[in-house]
Amino acid sequence: MRACLFAGDRIVLAEGACDLPSLEEAKGWEGGSAEWFRVDAGAARAMAARMSARWTPLPEVAVMGLRAVLPLLPEPSLSLALTAAHLARWRRTSRFCGVCGAANEPAPGHRAMLCPSCGHLAFPKISPAVIVQVTRGDNILLGRSRRHPRGGYSVLAGFVDPGESLEDTVRREIREEAGIRVRGIRYFGSQPWPFPDSLMVGFRAVYDGGELRGRDEELEDVGWFGADALPPVPPPYSIARGLIDDFARRHGVDPAALASWGRRGSGGRGASSG
Ligand SMILES: [Zn+2]
Repeated sequence: MRACLFAGDRIVLAEGACDLPSLEEAKGWEGGSAEWFRVDAGAARAMAARMSARWTPLPEVAVMGLRAVLPLLPEPSLSLALTAAHLARWRRTSRFCGVCGAANEPAPGHRAMLCPSCGHLAFPKISPAVIVQVTRGDNILLGRSRRHPRGGYSVLAGFVDPGESLEDTVRREIREEAGIRVRGIRYFGSQPWPFPDSLMVGFRAVYDGGELRGRDEELEDVGWFGADALPPVPPPYSIARGLIDDFARRHGVDPAALASWGRRGSGGRGASSG
């Protein structure tokens, strides 16, 4: 059995290791005080726990940002670590009942927190966001967020608002961030993205009019790029990169030849994937 041990939002591995530790190994590091919970990712299973803020890492461990382990961990360890991170954060932010304020407890038989006082069940929060490959002829729409590494561009993304269909969100986000209209919205694929609790839902869409407008609080720049002149784009494990690779491939460019930006720290509540 593997273990996902967290210190804050960071994950604890053995120094120099490229996989999750065993449960025995991790229990040795945490000293027997952590509250362990089960994590499933497909058929794979692990145990996870979060250390208290006072925990001091031992010399034999490496405490790593979650994004830094994305290119490192093999499957199914990567899926287990991402799922565990999502659940660990949800458990930490669901300690009290939202209805009556009593202390919650893990619900027996459910992946939920139960209020022993009023019976309210709180399930893990998942925040859906759309991420969109917009094309105009042989060009793709890319934006540079203030949170991207210098010079890095990606496809546009945004969270779903209450009352919106996913297609509504695609139309609104592209209109708000780039000032243009899109049509031909088609599903591409999806990816859990626990930074902190998103589900990224990918779409393709086609330019349908309007004048491109960049620069707002979120975006420093937005523009059209040909497949042979792409700026640095997100690393290969993100759906953002999957959408850009799809565009490149369809225009005769090998995705392996694209320049990626490096790893970076976690951002705030922005839906940009990568
Ligand atoms: Zn309650």
